[in-house]
Amino acid sequence: MKGKNISPLMPLSAWVIFIFIFCPELHPQAIKCFFCNREINGTYIVVDGNYYHPEHFLCKKCGKQIKGSYQKLLDDYYHLDCYEKETAAKCDVCNQIITGEMITQDLKFYHPECYRKFIVPKCSVCLEPLEGEYKIDVYGNKFHSWHIGVLDQCETCGRIISKSLTNGGRYYDDGRHICNLCYEKAVFSQSEIRDLLAKVIDKLIEMGISLDKNNISVHAVDKNELKSISGMEKFDRLEGFCKSQYLSDFVKNKKKNIKFTHKIYVLTGLPSLNIEAILAHELTHAWAAENTPDNQPPDVREGSCNFISYQYLFYSTDPEVKFLLLNMEKNPDPVYGLGFQKIRNKFYGKPVSALLDYLKTGN
Ligand SMILES: [Zn+2]
Ligand SMILES: [Zn+2]
Ligand SMILES: [Zn+2]
Ligand SMILES: [Zn+2]
Ligand SMILES: [Zn+2]
Ligand SMILES: [Zn+2]
Repeated sequence: MKGKNISPLMPLSAWVIFIFIFCPELHPQAIKCFFCNREINGTYIVVDGNYYHPEHFLCKKCGKQIKGSYQKLLDDYYHLDCYEKETAAKCDVCNQIITGEMITQDLKFYHPECYRKFIVPKCSVCLEPLEGEYKIDVYGNKFHSWHIGVLDQCETCGRIISKSLTNGGRYYDDGRHICNLCYEKAVFSQSEIRDLLAKVIDKLIEMGISLDKNNISVHAVDKNELKSISGMEKFDRLEGFCKSQYLSDFVKNKKKNIKFTHKIYVLTGLPSLNIEAILAHELTHAWAAENTPDNQPPDVREGSCNFISYQYLFYSTDPEVKFLLLNMEKNPDPVYGLGFQKIRNKFYGKPVSALLDYLKTGN
């Protein structure tokens, strides 16, 4: 994107021509001034075969008489310095002539300072010009690479938490640092989260995933509670967990009438769209607990849950949804990210039932 420097002067398109002043004795017949069309009695000049009163041979740019040498451009005449001004490159920002160093970009010219101040893209975080290497996040924000690691990234959306980009952020009691864009849409109340659960279950059923509302409950918890409930103390990115249990009667030493209950735990204080995505993932675990063998490899299981969540999100009209999808696609985690890519490559564009059959039977 960076422009390159070139010389400020345009190539001269006309030669410098000197004026010759003639005396009337040399020209006995009546001659007329090309400018005022009146007869010339005193001295006159001839330019390109036309006669002029000397005071009527005028510069196109400044309108004053040309006495010394001149430059011609098309059918117009100029003082030498007026010609230079007329043809010099002008800065597209300040409209002043550029002498000295110049930047060109997309057929426009700039003073280096004007270019730096007004044309170079600005860092979304510190608002300074982005020169050299910079990064772009999934939201399209451009920023200096060195802000990463110096400033926190929002645990939910990944944006760099800063005044200009996210209007700051806040810490939750469990240590999470959340940007204010996410915080504005955060859901904390149990009843709202229960409503989201009902909404997601309805949609998944519509997609062909059999679930029973009556044996699924949802509980909003903070990060520390989620870690201890799931037993995944070390997994810092955990946002939800599904605890499935069953009761069964034994008939002739065989399990019969198996009744499942699923408790879904989800982080409190997330935007509703994120909560829906997590619920879709965990509900797929609930379905899998009832319908698939226990011994599935983790990347197949988590990748499938993420893929159903991804499919669910396609129905959302929330403007943030495309970024959530992008974050899923770009997740480098070997289980959640690469597992998801594997399942997506296999089942993208196919009916959901194809994936469900694959999970039930392994083919
Ligand atoms: Zn005249
Ligand atoms: Zn002039
Ligand atoms: Zn300028
Ligand atoms: Zn910056
Ligand atoms: Zn955020
Ligand atoms: Zn999972």
